[in-house]
Amino acid sequence: MTIRNIWAVGRNYRDHVSEMNAPTPSVPVVFLKAGSSATVFSNEIVLPHWTEEVHHEVELALKLGPSLQVIEGAVALDLTERKLQAEAKKRGGPWTLAKSFDGACPVSASFTLRHVSEAADFRIRLWVNDELRQEGRTRDMIFNCQYLLEYVQTYFPICAGDLILTGTPAGVGPLRDGDRVKAEIEGQITHIWKVIKATNTRGGFAAHADKDEDSGDEH
Ligand code: MG
Repeated sequence: MTIRNIWAVGRNYRDHVSEMNAPTPSVPVVFLKAGSSATVFSNEIVLPHWTEEVHHEVELALKLGPSLQVIEGAVALDLTERKLQAEAKKRGGPWTLAKSFDGACPVSASFTLRHVSEAADFRIRLWVNDELRQEGRTRDMIFNCQYLLEYVQTYFPICAGDLILTGTPAGVGPLRDGDRVKAEIEGQITHIWKVIKATNTRGGFAAHADKDEDSGDEH
């Protein structure tokens, strides 16, 4: 099934909220990543040439079936250009470029979930070059999977083939050319990627230039 919309949840583990110096949310922080930013089954993460500081965020992905219920899980990376995200936050503008660039959502193969409640206590981990960087349990989410499902069912035009990215535990950090990334939902799925920094340009810009920095534009 093709991935359609990606409903991503930010700040959903307290330890990650702390490391970002962000306030604890009282409602889910939901943003979109383009469905076309997903790469499924790939063994490579290709970082666009213009990125400078792409962070890994390992997350449990929940896939919606035709009944708009959760039918599968996967391990996914909510790749984030942290420098651009910080600039966007400072400006109070959207962080789409930081979250939805080409290849920004690597996704593993899926495993079956008969009900969203089966995802209530998964252990989730990520290693870079065999060093454990992120570890958490889905029971420690601020808003659990059942709640997130009901939230997106209530407020958004969800479709079969959509993913819900359920947030990342602490330990986010940069990826470099040549890194080997392993992510796991314990007992369910493991996926390994090699990181490649692209050198070719697609489109006319050689680097990302923040031309609006001092203009006071409000977009
Ligand atoms: Mg995330």
